[in-house]
Amino acid sequence: MSKGNINISTENIFPIIKKFLYSDHDIFLRELVSNATDATLKLKHLISIGEAKGEFKDPQIEIKIDKKKKTLHIIDRGIGMTKEEVEKYINEIAFSGAEEFVEKYKDKIEDAGIIGRFGLGFYSSFMVADKVEILSKSYKKGTKAVRWECDGSPVYTLENIDKKDTGTEIILHISKDEKEFLKEERINELLTKYNRFMPIPIKHGTREETKTVGEGKDAKEEKYTVDNIINNPNPAWTKKPTDLKEEDYKSFYHELYPMQFEEPLFNIHLNVDYPFNLTGILYFPRITKNIDIQKDRIQLYQNQVFVTDNVEGIVPDFLQMLRGVIDSPDIPLNVSRSYLQSDGAVKKISGYITKKVADKLYKLFKDNRDDFEKKWEDIKIIIEYGMLSEDKFFDKAQKFALYPTVDNTYFTLDELKEKIEKSQTDKDGNLIVLYTSDKDKQHSYIETAKAKGYEVLLLDSPIVSHLIQKLETANEKVKFTRVDADFIDNLIKKDDTKISKLTEDEKTKLEGFIKEIVPAEKYTVQMEALDSNENPFIITQPEFMRRYKEMSQSGGGGMMGMGAMPEMYNLIINTNNPLMDKILKAKKNRSKYVNQALDLAKLSQSLLTGKDMTDFIKRSFDLMK
Ligand code: ADP
Repeated sequence: MSKGNINISTENIFPIIKKFLYSDHDIFLRELVSNATDATLKLKHLISIGEAKGEFKDPQIEIKIDKKKKTLHIIDRGIGMTKEEVEKYINEIAFSGAEEFVEKYKDKIEDAGIIGRFGLGFYSSFMVADKVEILSKSYKKGTKAVRWECDGSPVYTLENIDKKDTGTEIILHISKDEKEFLKEERINELLTKYNRFMPIPIKHGTREETKTVGEGKDAKEEKYTVDNIINNPNPAWTKKPTDLKEEDYKSFYHELYPMQFEEPLFNIHLNVDYPFNLTGILYFPRITKNIDIQKDRIQLYQNQVFVTDNVEGIVPDFLQMLRGVIDSPDIPLNVSRSYLQSDGAVKKISGYITKKVADKLYKLFKDNRDDFEKKWEDIKIIIEYGMLSEDKFFDKAQKFALYPTVDNTYFTLDELKEKIEKSQTDKDGNLIVLYTSDKDKQHSYIETAKAKGYEVLLLDSPIVSHLIQKLETANEKVKFTRVDADFIDNLIKKDDTKISKLTEDEKTKLEGFIKEIVPAEKYTVQMEALDSNENPFIITQPEFMRRYKEMSQSGGGGMMGMGAMPEMYNLIINTNNPLMDKILKAKKNRSKYVNQALDLAKLSQSLLTGKDMTDFIKRSFDLMK
């Protein structure tokens, strides 16, 4: 037996490891299972190239708890280590790696979002164990098995032992404070979290199953035990897209999110190996109002080892609502998030994902437009958000972003432009796109527009004001305006001359009467000679005012203070409506008529509430008498 000091030149790192990343103590198991997996895959490789003798069958990693001895065992059938290798890899390389890691990050625990998820390796076992043993036998012929032991001081012992099977067993003597790691459920939970898709089968305990033996009335149920295998070593994303059917993608979705009962809308299989390595499957879920975006997020793996489900910085913001898996060895993980976001490789990855998503959406649109239109309601938020936040996506989305009308016709912007070019170009050559944000609330305005033969879009996403702002910037001479922003002939101005039934004199008199009654701090009165069938009073709110207000409410730079703008409206008086005659000639009921017309205009804009509503109802009954 030999004793030695792992390293005498520096301070003892073990106490630091013990405290290191308190909340992430559980990563030790992932690290050890990863080492066991690597050792097993290495042996597989050596056998395949004839460097190692024997057959590669039944590879397995076993995780065992010994409750009496208070130990946790990680046992592999991999390449194992010789005495020299233990000295080299464990005492020197792994130790100095851990030491360097601790040196680098011991003061930066707060920034641990991603730091610390990788790098500590074998020595992370000292986060949970007072003493660690390694029993190992190398695959190399004629070498002896060894036992290494270390109790968390820089002193270790190393001796030869008897061990028949090739491979390594790591024994952790779990410390008092970490007793949770001697519980089956806790270990199960960890293995399911980190190792669910690792490439070598992982056994933890046994399971009882039943089978039917015998036939007819002799048939009976018989119980038998099988190894409890935790993982699926061949998850869907590691397979070729051509080998997968629609059902395979769906069943993998449910394997990934067992509590998710809804089917995904569609999926995108990611697969590149140049200039970076990345595989994965992303799913578009149905985006409902109460979707919990914190739940069931995209999971990031490195070579089938779970790393995190916080993919901020790696996946563009607008795709964070998607679900699925990304697996890439090329994402640097032991760096801070801010560094991650500026990393060139990560930027490329994010760009690639955006492009793939755009390509897939276009393909769905092209291949089955009907179906794409049906899905539009469920995916529009993601697409619109993407158009706003990523210019490249905005450009690509021109081909598949849809603009539905109130009558459920879905246009692309180009199709819409062509459709309305003749009818909705105003006298200055601007193409006016009319839209509503609420079919019911703006019903009368929509009807007026439709009566003129205009198309009205239904744009009701919360970020739509930002989006149309962007669309106007990108499309010269295209202007969006909500149907209730003005009276219709003012929204799309044509060259027609208006004939007024009233003389200038009468108009001035009428304006005076109205302004006496209508509160000036709320309404700007505007006299217009409209069609006599048009409503007498119409309330509108200028597009730019309302839009900026909405934009500042839903967040967006450069519009500070606009949210505090007073609620102002235009009150359009249709001087050609026969009611004007009545108001002009009225003796005692003039103010009643004006108030009544104002209230009706408010009513059609859903602005009539409270005392105003009560007064209106009373006045309406009075007028009927
Ligand atoms: P890393 O895995 O990043 O190299 P570790 O500290 O986890 O760092 O391990 C150090 C080295 O010890 C490994 O590179 C490997 O050579 C060796 N090793 C660790 N665990 C095993 C094992 N189960 N079987 C064989 N070799 C192992």
